[in-house]
Amino acid sequence: RAAELSVYRDRPAATLDGTRLTLMLNVGLAFELDQLARTGAQGIGLYRTEIAALAAARVPGVAAQAADYRRVIERAAGQRVVFRTLDLGADKMLPGEADDAVENPAMGWRSLRVGLDRPAILRKQLRALLMGAAGHRLSIMFPMVATVAEFRAARDLLEAEAAKLADKPTEIEVGTMLEVPALLFQLPGLLAEADFISLGTNDLMQFLFAADRGTPKLAGRYDVLSAPVLELIEGLAAACAEEEVGFSICGEAAGRPLDALVFAAIGVNTLSMSGTAILPVKALLAAADLGAMRPVLRELRRAGAAGGSLRDPLTAWAREH
Ligand code: PEP
Ligand code: MG
Repeated sequence: RAAELSVYRDRPAATLDGTRLTLMLNVGLAFELDQLARTGAQGIGLYRTEIAALAAARVPGVAAQAADYRRVIERAAGQRVVFRTLDLGADKMLPGEADDAVENPAMGWRSLRVGLDRPAILRKQLRALLMGAAGHRLSIMFPMVATVAEFRAARDLLEAEAAKLADKPTEIEVGTMLEVPALLFQLPGLLAEADFISLGTNDLMQFLFAADRGTPKLAGRYDVLSAPVLELIEGLAAACAEEEVGFSICGEAAGRPLDALVFAAIGVNTLSMSGTAILPVKALLAAADLGAMRPVLRELRRAGAAGGSLRDPLTAWAREH
């Protein structure tokens, strides 16, 4: 099976009827960039910077972070790397912080909220990213953005840090995760300000359906492959295309072959996923005729408007075709 899949490494990600996709990796440590060569992925769509902090049990200093980011950029050898600023808290807690335990940590003082309220840590990280990317392109993405004002405040911190440095990246693009539902209702403002948007289905699903992402009893109840969620994603992809804002999906769903195929069918062309998912996703895409799938999907969405999962009939269709 692994040998069969390996043929896809050097092939572009494309469907049978010729739709090309960009498949990128979700990683969190510099050594994981080896996966680029192993999978043929086209860059890093989500670099989770908090993983290094969790591994070290503290946020490394500016110089150490800058050296680490530079190593990542060098290993990517010109491919795009989207660095997400620290997304600590909730399920990603540094030692000692658990003392602040609150009842709803996922909705608590976490991630960018900490970054904006205690800007010293975020500013240091932004400086380290700018230093590490000097002479290269830099892509920065903010997590848990709930308002356009938060995005703007974070970007202002980045600009303030950039203004202080002589050696800068050649180009800087600034984007946001879309994982807090409120941001969906600020799209015109967001599209006017963000260079790209990456949909985090892990958190967005949890907040959209009020269903904790770590509770196994809830795991099968709500599905990305359901009429309301597909409606939402299709609309987002179209709105981003219209405004020429990059759009991708980087939650776990992007790495499930069937989900990736459905995302491709509704107009999403960039997906970021774990290294083990790239070849299986490429293999299913290569076998799929989106033109044949779209009317089937349209009918299933119409019939499934009450919001239930469309996974079983879609799986059956995929098997048959
Ligand atoms: C997400 O929420 O979908 C996401 C990609 O981020 P994380 O899983 O790191 O919260
Ligand atoms: Mg998230």
